Amino acid sequence: MDLAGKVAGITGAGSGFGKEMALLFADEGADLSLCDIDEDGLADTANLVRNKGRKVTTSVFDVAAEDDLTSFVDMIPEDFGKIDIWVGNAGIGGPGSATELSADAWHKVIGINQSAVFFGARAAGRHMLQKGSGSVINIASMYGLRAVRNRVAYCTTKAAVVMISNVLAVEWAESGVRVNSVAPGYAETPLFKGTRDEEDIAAQITEVPARRLINTKEVAQACLYLASDRSSGVTGHCLSIDGGWSTVGGA
Ligand code: NAD
Repeated sequence: MDLAGKVAGITGAGSGFGKEMALLFADEGADLSLCDIDEDGLADTANLVRNKGRKVTTSVFDVAAEDDLTSFVDMIPEDFGKIDIWVGNAGIGGPGSATELSADAWHKVIGINQSAVFFGARAAGRHMLQKGSGSVINIASMYGLRAVRNRVAYCTTKAAVVMISNVLAVEWAESGVRVNSVAPGYAETPLFKGTRDEEDIAAQITEVPARRLINTKEVAQACLYLASDRSSGVTGHCLSIDGGWSTVGGA
């Protein structure tokens, strides 16, 4: 097991990638502290983790509330004795043309997708720096690597997630704390499917060299690699899991 004896915190663990990661990390031997704004989804994930025989704690709050997020992170070493892995995963979509997007919509996406990623990583990093080891993984998006029409808020936050991760990686590398980001492509999660009809999805698949959606297991496996000691030399890297979308040329 790649994560035997490790303790991981994951935001947005009630659905999609966060849920899949929680289950995979538990299979690999990690104990978990999970949070989400969705109480039912979080309880479901926690039950599945418990059934695998792993210890799990949960907390329901909005990650955009900085004090709640920092308190959640600070409780992990209290409850488990340490924190080895932190995944800043919770996120929301943010469609809207640049000329019409409301200020409220802009600030909401920035608060959840960007500021919470920084404050969560920083809080976890402070504990990891004290013990001289740890792995932080922040979930960006292929939309943070390329400009996409009508996604100015989302693209901006996801580009920021890559840069936040890279700056922290450089600041913390000498102390043994690694920070990486993951940039998924179009993937079969409620966030993706809930904002598109079948026709939109079919059209978007034609943009992907692999001609299919990514599945949540593929993203969870990439996060497992970055969480585990198998990636001990990797920091400040953004790992794309997008079926080739961010590599292909053409509009
Ligand atoms: P999802 O909606 O299935 O899961 C996201 C989880 O985050 C949900 O359980 C939700 O309740 C939680 N959450 C949302 N806002 C929150 C908040 N303010 N506080 C606490 N919890 C909150 O979505 P997903 O597709 O699994 O997305 C996970 C991450 O992956 C996001 O950061 C998203 O931007 C990113 N991503 C998704 C795709 C995709 O195609 N699905 C592609 C690239 C990146």
